[in-house]
Amino acid sequence: RILLTQVFDQPKETLKGIAMTVQDITREVELNAAKSQFISNVSHELRTPLFNIKSFIETLSEFGEDLTEKERREFLETANHETDRLTRLVNDVLDLSRLESSKIYHFHGVDLPQLVEQILRSYQLNAKDKGLELGQELEDNLPLVLGHYDLLLQVLTNLVGNALKFTVSGGRIVIRAYRLKYNPAIPCNKPLVRIEISDTGIGIDPEDQEAIFDRFFRVENRVHTLEGTGLGLSIVKNIMEKHNSRIHLISEVGVGTTFWFDLAVYQENCSSQESVKELK
Ligand code: ADP
Repeated sequence: RILLTQVFDQPKETLKGIAMTVQDITREVELNAAKSQFISNVSHELRTPLFNIKSFIETLSEFGEDLTEKERREFLETANHETDRLTRLVNDVLDLSRLESSKIYHFHGVDLPQLVEQILRSYQLNAKDKGLELGQELEDNLPLVLGHYDLLLQVLTNLVGNALKFTVSGGRIVIRAYRLKYNPAIPCNKPLVRIEISDTGIGIDPEDQEAIFDRFFRVENRVHTLEGTGLGLSIVKNIMEKHNSRIHLISEVGVGTTFWFDLAVYQENCSSQESVKELK
C-alpha cells in the first residue's frame, strides 16, 4: 500500500510545482491488521474462562443448597482452575505487549549455570510428580553470555514447562549448553554459546513446526486440554529477537523435541556488544 501526500506551497493560480511524498505503508497496514487480529483473539480467549467462572458461581449461588458437599467442592475447584487459566493468559498477554513496546532492555553478562540451576530448582518437584527425569549437561567453564537475565529465565521457563507438559511419564528432559566453534582471528566475531532443551516427548508434526510460534496456536492432540495459553512460544521467539538471535527446533513425532538457540559470549570492551545494546 502506498500513501501519496501532495503539498501545495502556492495558491493554485500561481502554482509553480508540487512536492509529493511517497510513503510505503504496507508494514503499518500489516501491523495494524495483526494487532486487530490479536485483540480479537485475546478477547475470545478471555471470554471462555470468564464465562465458565460466572456459570459456576451462578449455579452455586442458585442451586448450591441442592448440591452435595462433593459437588460444591468440585465446582469451586473448577472455578479456581479457570481463574488460574485467566491469570496465566493475562500475564502472557502483558509479557508479550511489554516485549513489543519500545522498552529498552539492558544487557549484561549472564551466568548460564546459575540460570539453569534456578530453572531446575523450580521445576524439579513438578518433574518428579510426573515421573520425569529433569537434568542438565553444561560444558565446564562456560563463559558469561550477553543477555537479559529475567528474559532468558522466561525463555527457559516456557521451554522447560512445555517439555514437561508434552512428555509422558518415564521420559527425560535435558538442558544443555556448550560453546560453538568460531573464528578467533576475527575480533568480536560472535563467539557463541548454544543452549538446547531436549525432551523425549510426543514430538511435533513437521507441518505444525512453523505455526507453533504463532500466537494462540496449539497443536490439536490428546494433550491439547493441558494448561496453556498458546502464547509461550511467541514470547520465546520475541525474546530471542531482542537478543539478536533465533529459536530453532528439531522434532520427531513420538520421539521428542529439541529447541535450541545461540547467545553471544559476553566480552568486556567489545564494541559489537554496544551495537547489540543499542538495538534494544
Ligand atoms: P502452550 O501454552 O499451548 O504450551 P506454546 O506457544 O508454548 O503454547 O506452544 C504452542 C504449541 O506447540 C503447544 O500447544 C504444543 O502443541 C506445541 N509444543 C510446544 N512445545 C512442545 C514440546 N516440547 N513437545 C511437543 N509439542 C510442543
